[in-house]
This record gives sequence, C-alpha cells and structure tokens, in this order.
Amino acid sequence: MRYATYLSGGRRQVGVVSDDGQSLRPLALAPREAERGVLALIERSARGEDMPPVDGAPVPVADVHLDAPIPLPRRNIWCVGRNYHAHAKELQASVFKDNSAAVESWPIVFTKVPECVVGPHDDVQLPVGVSDQIDYEAELLVIIGAGGKNISRADAMKHVWGYSVVNDVTARDVQMRHQQWDMGKSFDTFCPMGPWAVTADAFDGNSARVRCWVNGELRQDANVENMIFDIPTLIETISRGITLYPGDLIATGTPAGVGMGMKPPQYLKAGDRVRVEVDGLGAVENVMVAGDAC
Ligand code: MG
Repeated sequence: MRYATYLSGGRRQVGVVSDDGQSLRPLALAPREAERGVLALIERSARGEDMPPVDGAPVPVADVHLDAPIPLPRRNIWCVGRNYHAHAKELQASVFKDNSAAVESWPIVFTKVPECVVGPHDDVQLPVGVSDQIDYEAELLVIIGAGGKNISRADAMKHVWGYSVVNDVTARDVQMRHQQWDMGKSFDTFCPMGPWAVTADAFDGNSARVRCWVNGELRQDANVENMIFDIPTLIETISRGITLYPGDLIATGTPAGVGMGMKPPQYLKAGDRVRVEVDGLGAVENVMVAGDAC
C-alpha cells in the first residue's frame, strides 16, 4: 500500500494512493490524527488497531498539495553518513578526513531536527548569509513500525513499516565547521520527504536504485545494494541500548555524486531544481529559493 499525507479543502488528510499514482482515497481519521499524517496509521498499527476505512470519493493528486508523509516526525531523524564506498572516497579529503580508518567498522550516525521536514514539492530555503555551500543528498528513508531495543540483524526487517524518499540537504561549510553535523543538516526546509510512504510488503528496501538530478543533469545513480551498512545492520546498530519507536525514521546515506565531490565543487543556488528518486517509491522535486538573509 502507498499512503500520502496531503492538504485538501483547507485541512490535512491521509489517503491511499491509487495504483497509477494519479488519485487519492481519503481515510476516515479525526482531524487531530490526520494532522500527524501517516504517523497516525503507524501508531495505530503498533497498537494493534485496524486501519481506518476509506471515507470519500477519490481526489486527483494534481488537485491537492502533497505534504511529507510524516510532516512532523516524533523526534529527530536518524541519518547515516558515509554509507556508500564511492561517496566515502569522493569526500575523504573533507567531510570524512578523520574517519578513514573507521569506514568498515561502525557507521557515522547523526540527526536532523523534525522541523526541517517539508513536502515533496515544497521550496527549499537557502540560508542566505549563513552558508553558500548547499548540497543535495539523495537517500532511501526507512520508516520504523514496531519499536524495540537491541534489535538483532536477523529480526530487523520485521521492524520496518515502510519506506519513503528524502533529500538530506546539507550546508557543507556549516557541517564541517562545527565538528558535529546536526547544525549543517537541520536548517529549515532541509529535509524534503515523499511523495508518499510505501509499506514494506510492497517494496524491497534492500535492492533499489537511488538517483538525483540537478536541473535535469543526472548527478547520483546507485543501488542501495552498494551500501556499506545495510538496513538490518543500521537498525541493529542504532537500537543498541536506544529504544526505537513506531514512526522513527532512518535516512540511509547517499551515493557518490554530491556537489562537494565535483571538481570544482558545484553548490546549489537559487532557482536550481533538485529531483531525488528511488525506483518503486517515487520522487521529491524541489526548487531552491533564497531564504531570509541572516
Ligand atoms: Mg545524508
């Protein structure tokens, strides 16, 4: 199943996406639940409750404003750095310079704040006066269903509710300046997500093509099979001593081809259009705009 969160008639709703991706059937959710988007469905499922029934006529996707499937995650988004060999190599002189010996042992894990999530077609605001090194990162997003702690690799996939697509937008200079990455990853609007959430029974998260285009030019193209740490390993690692909750999100890292790795580096500027697509899930496509000057 594919579930979308969207604005229609002035209020937020959650709906089932049609097979052709062209229409949505709204679900019967109280406004307070619908406000939380697909997260409300995940939490219902975790409580063992039935999914709400469809309630209303199909609505064309073209007639609504798609929100991120989870517009405000319950807490920070877990993110993985340096998770493709070729990407680790392209940034070994900059972002990963102090970690080259650790590539094969432990993943880099950082977080983005929940409030930086925006919809699949919303603008990304460049933080004018704060950074002029804004970069894109195409990524597969894992959505946790059943929570747990100390989850084993063998059990990990049972905890995956589904998947979506994110662009882990990054201010490279800020990322490196502060040692910890969270600030450079968490500017307002820096996490386009969508176009919807796809349940685990309808998508193979361990074999999927991830691509990114900037103004129509293909910049990233890899399969998640090339990840250094696969999804079961990431869930096992992050849940070591830390309880994962229904609706927790894990952005699984980006392939080679980011702007910082180009010679010379190619950073994003106002007017640029970035498309991130995962085959079988769909795409987010966002225009960069100048935000308020600092
Ligand atoms: Mg990333």
